[in-house]
Amino acid sequence: MISKSAIKKLTQILGEEHILTNKDDMSPYCHDATHNLFPPEAVVFPGTAIEISKIMQLANKELIPVVPRGAGSGMSGGALAIKGGLVMSMDRLNTILLIDEKNLIARVEPGVITGHLQEEVEKIGLFYPPDPASLNVSTVGGNVAECAGGPRAVKYGVTRDYILGLKVVLPNGEIVGIGVETAKGVVGYDLTRLIVGSEGTLAIITEITVRLIPRPEKKKTLLVIFPDIFSAAQGVSNIIREKIVPTTIEFMDSLSVQLVRQELNFDLPKGNIALLLIELDGDQWQIDTYSDRVSAICRDTGSMDIHVACDGKEAAELWMVRRGLSPALLSLKPDKINQDVVVPRSRLAEFVMALSEIGRKYDLMIPSFGHAGDGNIHVNIMLDRDNKDEEKRAEKALKELFELVIDFRGTISGEHGIGISKKPFIGMEVSESVLMLMRGIKEVFDPNNILNPGKIFDDI
Ligand SMILES: Cc1cc2nc3c(=O)[nH]c(=O)nc-3n(C[C@H](O)[C@H](O)[C@H](O)COP(=O)(O)OP(=O)(O)OC[C@H]3O[C@@H](n4cnc5c(N)ncnc54)[C@H](O)[C@@H]3O)c2cc1C
Repeated sequence: MISKSAIKKLTQILGEEHILTNKDDMSPYCHDATHNLFPPEAVVFPGTAIEISKIMQLANKELIPVVPRGAGSGMSGGALAIKGGLVMSMDRLNTILLIDEKNLIARVEPGVITGHLQEEVEKIGLFYPPDPASLNVSTVGGNVAECAGGPRAVKYGVTRDYILGLKVVLPNGEIVGIGVETAKGVVGYDLTRLIVGSEGTLAIITEITVRLIPRPEKKKTLLVIFPDIFSAAQGVSNIIREKIVPTTIEFMDSLSVQLVRQELNFDLPKGNIALLLIELDGDQWQIDTYSDRVSAICRDTGSMDIHVACDGKEAAELWMVRRGLSPALLSLKPDKINQDVVVPRSRLAEFVMALSEIGRKYDLMIPSFGHAGDGNIHVNIMLDRDNKDEEKRAEKALKELFELVIDFRGTISGEHGIGISKKPFIGMEVSESVLMLMRGIKEVFDPNNILNPGKIFDDI
């Protein structure tokens, strides 16, 4: 419980207008995209790293849990105040500080919306590739903390591949700079890479230096229609085997297609069809050559039709349909257990067949879609939590899903992180010795366990 005197000190640090303590005012900060509810005791809106440092010194002294928060779009409960305490919003830290064309870098505050950074750098011919489907709401800080990926990861990699350096506030309030602003740097342990994906448990990120690349000249978007999910998954494996690396290869299984049929501006064939949304980028010669080869591979794998987006507007519409899929799922059932497993790309077809088997066995709808090009599949176990029998079956199906993924030499999370959702399952993938190393790292950074406690693993 935060003491009245601590609230008073926080108000002195921030000013009255930058702290919330009223229950109703704090309601937007009680949940994230998992839809779990955990009310904090106060929400603070610092405007500088120095204010964050002062807040952390106080929290460390009075043992107040602090949960950093970007846009709250996280899918694993990372931004939830599961132990009460403070939610620290990055809303006010939302400035692009620098775009440096000579050195191909940008420096931003953590609350900058990812899509906004992309638009700004693209205006001057540069490119920041990480593109989570939430890019119009999620923040660069949240992306760094989760090591967000996105459709373009097939060709360009994930957030970690673009982070050069960070300024962070440690749980004891110390402000430190880590990493570099240069194209290379190997001085000491790579703490930048450690903080990326640390889910707000090691330090609060207050500044981010990202690497930029030249914006690809052109792109081409294809929507490929397959008669079933098996041939679509086989199509993905075949494209990769032919050593073609498209910018994206997203897939939607037949249940997902049902949800978006009416959103698309053209008729799709009836039946249990599956779709691949493939994007290629580069110069005109590259995209034409690769699009011919990709189309030929898809036809050989049994595709029924290939629709080429006629212009940028149509391509954007196709992407909007894909990005709208995750929320649209809730029209099937009121609840979903959303997982982002990854399997080797060569085994995608085998995996989706095994997945439908799990659905049949437990009599559950399990639509899947996602970043098939890097083997990252969003598996959604749909359920109604008021139906206790269905809930039990869903939990069994979830465990079986993770066993399957490990059996396939995959990983239980490609981009959403562990947070609280996957905490019970981390030991299925990570050995006890490795978990001990991770706990040791947490203890070095945060001996009092005040920064986002109870996330990734139970309290030490
Ligand atoms: C519709 C939808 C689609 C999505 N698609 C994708 C996708 O394609 N790829 C993908 O990777 N994710 C996806 N996500 C998940 C989510 O958007 C990402 O995890 C995103 O990176 C979270 O950013 P955020 O700003 O919302 O962070 P939050 O949800 O607010 O926080 C996420 C984590 O980061 C920590 N954090 C936030 N800011 C800081 C900071 N400054 N310092 C330290 N820690 C911090 C929080 O404590 C928490 O642990 C999707 C979510 C939705 C709702």
